[in-house]
Amino acid sequence: MNRFDQFQLSPEILRGIHSLGFEEPSPIQVRCIPPVLVGDDVIGQAQTGPGKTAAFGIPILENIDTDKNFVQSLILAPTRELAIQVSEELRRIGRSKRVRTLSIYGGQAIGRQVKALQQGVHVVVGTPGRLLDHLRRGTLQVDRVRTIVLDEADEMLDMGFIDDIEAVMNFLPNRQQMLLFSATMPPAIRNLANKYMRSPKYITVSHGEVTAPIIQQVYYRVLENFKVDALCRILDSEEGELSIIFCRTKKGVDELTESLQARGYLAGGLHGDLAQQQRDRVMNAFRQSEIELLIATDVAARGIDVGSVSHVINFDIPQDVESYVHRIGRTGRAGREGVALTLVTPREMKQLRLIEKEIGSRLRARELPTLEEVAA
Ligand code: ADP
Ligand code: MG
Repeated sequence: MNRFDQFQLSPEILRGIHSLGFEEPSPIQVRCIPPVLVGDDVIGQAQTGPGKTAAFGIPILENIDTDKNFVQSLILAPTRELAIQVSEELRRIGRSKRVRTLSIYGGQAIGRQVKALQQGVHVVVGTPGRLLDHLRRGTLQVDRVRTIVLDEADEMLDMGFIDDIEAVMNFLPNRQQMLLFSATMPPAIRNLANKYMRSPKYITVSHGEVTAPIIQQVYYRVLENFKVDALCRILDSEEGELSIIFCRTKKGVDELTESLQARGYLAGGLHGDLAQQQRDRVMNAFRQSEIELLIATDVAARGIDVGSVSHVINFDIPQDVESYVHRIGRTGRAGREGVALTLVTPREMKQLRLIEKEIGSRLRARELPTLEEVAA
């Protein structure tokens, strides 16, 4: 039996799951839902895509007591975009049960968040810095939080949130359950787990089991001065839906966005220096396919899950293998095939070889499309 009924969930939660169109639980869901339901601590290690949000979201929502009007679960996520995405999925799963879920992140007016918190919520999803802000102001009460989740823990640590995470943990003396999800398990994560978790169950999803990623990985050799031209030729010759294009710096994002817009592409830029409103606008336009190219830095694109991203393009080669893996994980979502293209200048070939060595496979070299091919 491989259905969601195997977990003895309430009809309301089952209805929520079906409203998302999920028919069968993914492997990580099969293994996470039962222990989380009974209150165990769980560490889930998996790359992006296998459905970690629902793996912790379903049992957490099942265990929420909606007669009690206080925060029962706190979920930490590395970026605003991810916090919004997780809270949206939880809101849909918990809708029939009338679970109130709120996302809280920096950049949004704090007054509005305080008001929303005063209405009474059951589940709060937020970025560590802003959550801590509310905890210190006393506008978020967590003394009766039962379950704390660290989602994308390695990314939160990469972004320097370790002190904020520990500070948040210290506000939760009465928590009964801690869940931690991460694509990688560097020592800092293990330390965090050792310090705060109680005999956690360790669940990994090996590559063979991961439901989605079928990702074609290709690279093009290009000269530094011709990267924009090369990119345009590639964009014109590829058949696809939405693309995310990664640049190394915020300035790079701005410049590339402008050149692409000037050449008539539907492009929008996303990075941390833009106002939150602007970021939301760009993300919404991208989700609704009003823009087809999202130009972003690593940080801004973390955790973004837009099902119809057919291409990830590394305009600038990633600095390390973790970044490569996270970037290409933005495509090939939910069982669809994805394409990951990397532009490599001659002096970056060494970096490419390093990445290939660490991922344990080689990228396919492809010639740039010729002008005729582009015209065709
Ligand atoms: P992760 O956090 O592990 O990277 P997500 O939780 O964001 O992955 O899920 C990736 C995508 O797969 C989302 O679009 C989600 O809605 C979808 N998904 C998750 N679980 C299932 C399922 N059981 N059946 C179908 N789609 C699913
Ligand atoms: Mg996730």
